[in-house]
Amino acid sequence: MRVLRKGGAYLYADGSPYGQARAGLAARIGRYCSYCERRENLLEVEHIQPKDAHLAKERLWSNFLLSCKNCNSIKRTKDPQLTDWLIPDRDNTMAAFVYRQDGIVDIAPMVPLALIPAAKATLDLVDLNKEVREVLDDAGNLVALDRRSQRLEAWLLAKRFRLHWDKVPSPALQDAIMELARTGGFFSIWMSAFDGVAQIRQGFIQLFPGTESACFDPVSSAANRPHPNADGLDAGGKL
Ligand SMILES: [Zn+2]
Repeated sequence: MRVLRKGGAYLYADGSPYGQARAGLAARIGRYCSYCERRENLLEVEHIQPKDAHLAKERLWSNFLLSCKNCNSIKRTKDPQLTDWLIPDRDNTMAAFVYRQDGIVDIAPMVPLALIPAAKATLDLVDLNKEVREVLDDAGNLVALDRRSQRLEAWLLAKRFRLHWDKVPSPALQDAIMELARTGGFFSIWMSAFDGVAQIRQGFIQLFPGTESACFDPVSSAANRPHPNADGLDAGGKL
């Protein structure tokens, strides 16, 4: 799950209707769902703590992320303590999960024992591993309907370009890879597919707006540093 830093309020004043924060959020963290990483045009302003239970935080930038309809509708009014789950704009959610090639998102082996329940709670909150739903179109091609199937598709594409890269790396190919990742989303899958290729991985980190680069080793690009939580968000920096 891409690790984020959205910074202070941008193109939004706390207290305004929360829908007005969408453009500023998209500018800061890109038009990607903060949970499932899909690129979406119809992203919703997501309340980290649900607005019904936390009225005082309904119009606070610090309580916002961007979410696709799917993740948002599953999360809905679920209201765990901020200390009980990992939050992309304040914890190193990149280090918390591994993206398997079968589309499953798993808890990373290096997550400290004490934080495993929080990592699991994060997956459950938006039910990231919900079952695969696919249909065939008129021509017999597979149409991926759900988030897991779409991760499988992203994997296939990313692996194909990793093979190309391993054969003949070039600036033009790097450019094409960046463009595919930017337009399709799924940051974590592209990062996983280019495991060991720091040059490309650093490119993704720079390319996706709002990725908290301080969580990555500047040389190896491994996501092995705790989130600095430079904006001082509640319960941040757990991982
Ligand atoms: Zn989503």
